[in-house]
Amino acid sequence: MSNICKIETKGLGNGSHKYTFILDGGFFEAFENDMISDAGITVEATLEKNGPAMRLSMLINGTVTVMCDRCLDNLDLPVKIDETFDVLFSDLSDTSDIADQEISEEKDVVVLDRTSADIDLSQLIYDYVCTSLPIRKVHHDGECNPEMMEKMKNILK
Ligand SMILES: [Zn+2]
Repeated sequence: MSNICKIETKGLGNGSHKYTFILDGGFFEAFENDMISDAGITVEATLEKNGPAMRLSMLINGTVTVMCDRCLDNLDLPVKIDETFDVLFSDLSDTSDIADQEISEEKDVVVLDRTSADIDLSQLIYDYVCTSLPIRKVHHDGECNPEMMEKMKNILK
């Protein structure tokens, strides 16, 4: 259930629409991610619709549980992401609808298939969370599991 991060766009009126998604470890499991063992993440998405133009803002907040690189114990990493991007449909580029709309390369743009009736944010959210994590995942100094550290020392001897 937690893996559904879809927004129905068919028949959606103009204006601001808000959605909340709650993600747990199962969300990352579905992506066959064996790095993230658990998660508690809230995604607040706001879709601004103005005719064919759509702008999506996402606030991704919470924690993911990974393995500490040093003591191999569980490590909770905070996740805090704030992203806004334009949603475009693939066959709109050759119509006059958005002909005078500048598409900046710096701006995040998500292009969707015209035929899809909804926006699936799962892959996007997954990518945002994964790329936000530090490369070196360790507890703060002194916060590693002392028992594990002792065992590791013995193994390395
Ligand atoms: Zn540690």
